[in-house]
Amino acid sequence: MSTTERALLADADRRALAYLDSSATRRVFPDQSALDALSAFDQPLPTTGQLADQVLQQLDELGSPATVVSNGPRYFGFVIGATLPAAAAAERMVLAWDQCASSFDNSPIADKLEKVAGRWVCEALGLPTDSAVGFGTSATACTLACLSAARRQLLARLGWDFDQYGLIGAPEIRVVLSETAHITVKKALRVLGFGMGRLHYAPVDTHGRIDPQRLPELDDRTLLILQAGEVNTGEFDRFAELIPRAKAAGAWVHVDGAFGLWARASSSAAQADGVELADSWTTDGHKWLNTPYDSAMAICRDADALASAMNSDAAYATASKDAQKNLTLEFSRRARGIAIWAALASLGRDGLRELIDRHIAQAGRLAEALRADGYQVLNRVHLNQVLVQADSDEQTVAIRQAAQASGDTWFGPTVWQGRPAFRLSVSSWRTTDADIDALIALLLRLKRETP
Ligand SMILES: *Cc1c(COP(=O)(O)O)cnc(C)c1O
Repeated sequence: MSTTERALLADADRRALAYLDSSATRRVFPDQSALDALSAFDQPLPTTGQLADQVLQQLDELGSPATVVSNGPRYFGFVIGATLPAAAAAERMVLAWDQCASSFDNSPIADKLEKVAGRWVCEALGLPTDSAVGFGTSATACTLACLSAARRQLLARLGWDFDQYGLIGAPEIRVVLSETAHITVKKALRVLGFGMGRLHYAPVDTHGRIDPQRLPELDDRTLLILQAGEVNTGEFDRFAELIPRAKAAGAWVHVDGAFGLWARASSSAAQADGVELADSWTTDGHKWLNTPYDSAMAICRDADALASAMNSDAAYATASKDAQKNLTLEFSRRARGIAIWAALASLGRDGLRELIDRHIAQAGRLAEALRADGYQVLNRVHLNQVLVQADSDEQTVAIRQAAQASGDTWFGPTVWQGRPAFRLSVSSWRTTDADIDALIALLLRLKRETP
C-alpha cells in the first residue's frame, strides 16, 4: 500500500472515530445550517479528479453534520438499531478484503462465515438449523426471494413448471395476508406480479394481530403471510394456532419478522411460540441485531426451494446450491453475513438475550412513565414498540414535531386507527437507562408546554 493510501485510510478512520465519539452529544437530526450547507455538493461532475483527501475532507465536514445520528443512543425512530462494535470492526475487515461473496470460489472465508452465520441465526431464533439462509440487502429483498420460492413450490406441487412456463396459464396462487402487513411485503408481492387487487386481507384484532376467527379460507394454492412484530404495536400473529391450520390445508406460510423475530432470542420468546412451524421467514440484521446496513436474511425450511428459485449458475459460474449467489437476488455481492457472524460471536446467546431483554424492559418503563403523565399508550408494549397519543391530534403532532426540532432525540409519526400517533422504538445497543430517563423528561416537559 502506498503511503498516500495509508494516510488517507488512517485519516478516514480518525474522522470516523471522531464522529462516533460525538454521537452521544450531536444533534440527532441536523439543524438548518447543516442542511443548507449541503448545497455545496451541487457541483457538475468534475473534469479532472480531486485529491482523495480533499474528497474525504468534504465528505466529513459537510456530510457528518447532515447525518441523522441513528448510530447513537437517542434515536427512537423506525426500528433502526445502531451498529455493534464487533460488527463495525468486522465490516472494516470486509471492506479491506473486498470479497465478491458469491460462492466458495470467489471467497472461501465469506462462504465459510456465512454458512456458520446462517446456522447461528437459526439457532438464535429457534428455527430449523438445516434451513437455507440467504443474506440479502433488506427484508424487502429477502421477502421477495422467499415469496418467489413459495410460489414456485406451490405451483410445482400443482404440477406446474414455473421456471419453464412462468405465470401465463398457471393456476392462481391466493395470497392471504394481514390487514396490517408491512408495506414492503406488499411491494414484494406487487413486484412479483401478484396484483394488489387480488390479495385477500385477514382482519386483525385491536392489537393488530390476525383474528383467527375471521381468517380467509386456506387451501393448497394459498400463500399465507404472517407477522412477527407488527410495525406499530410489535404484536405477533398467533402462530401456534394459525400455522398448523394453514399446513393442514396445504398452504405455504411465510413470516415477516423483520425486527420481531429477535424476540425469539429473549426471555419473552413465548409470544412468538409456533413461529418455527412456518415454511419461510424474513428478518433483518440491520434493525434489532444492530449490524450495519444493508443486512437481512431470507430463511427457508426447504433449502432446495430457495436454492432453486434463486439459482444463478452459469457455464462459467457454477457453485454449490447453498452458495450465497444461489440463495439471494444478488450475483456479485458483499459478504454481509460476516458482520452478522461477528455480532453473534461477540454477543453469544447470553449477550443477545440481554440486549433484547433490555430493550423490552426499557420500552415497558417508557410506556409506564408516559401513561403516568397523561399520555395514551395505545399498545400493550410486550416488545420494543411504544405507540403514543397525547390529548388531541393537534397536540400529538405538535409534540412529535417539537421533539424532532429539539435535536435531543428523533422519532417518527404513524397513524393508528385513523388518528395520528407517534412511535418510539427502542433498538440501539447504545441506549442506556439514562437515555430513556432523558426521553421521558423531554416528553413530559413537551406535554406541559404544548397546547
Ligand atoms: C422494516 C420492516 C420491513 C422492511 O425491512 P427492510 O430491511 O427495511 O426492507 C418489513 N417488515 C417489517 C415489520 C419491518 O419493520
